[in-house]
Amino acid sequence: MTRFSGAKPRLATVWLSGCSGCHMSFLDLDEWLIELANQVEIVYSPIASDQKIFPEAVDITLVEGAVATTDNLDLLKIVRARSRTLISFGDCAISGNVTALRNASGGPQAVLQRAYLELAENTAQLPHAPGLIPDLLETVRPVHELVPVEVYLPGCPPSAQRIRLVLEALLQGKSPRLEGRDQIRLG
Ligand code: SF4
Repeated sequence: MTRFSGAKPRLATVWLSGCSGCHMSFLDLDEWLIELANQVEIVYSPIASDQKIFPEAVDITLVEGAVATTDNLDLLKIVRARSRTLISFGDCAISGNVTALRNASGGPQAVLQRAYLELAENTAQLPHAPGLIPDLLETVRPVHELVPVEVYLPGCPPSAQRIRLVLEALLQGKSPRLEGRDQIRLG
């Protein structure tokens, strides 16, 4: 049996560059969320805590979204260093998916130009707030290309049933096994 950091496993969820749909699917766990809340301590999550700093000694972290900005990358490095088990949560985290569509558009400047100048109907201007708006990385990358990942949880978004299967296994100290087309299919 895996030993966790405290009396209860410490659970975190993070979103990088995604649409938050994976987190919405997490909320679709419905009444099992109450069971989960009894089993774990939620120490960081955009949907369940106002904690701003990613804490130390997290047992399980779900990471939604691809890595598209310097802020994403900085946070991901901290998350990796402080998480025992990191789950690449959803297709954007696993492959780049929708978020990475911009990789074919000619780099950050071309994307900004298109979004904020060419398509603007009013007050066309590039966002400029040094230190406030994170810089776009040259290309959008999946999580595993930048840090090691222990568990892949595919889907756009992963179904609540898949999320539960993975979390239940980890909480029991087992390696999650997603098998068959219904469990491992992307999309
Ligand atoms: S995998 Fe799908 S649902 Fe999840 S963040 Fe990406 S686009 Fe949204």
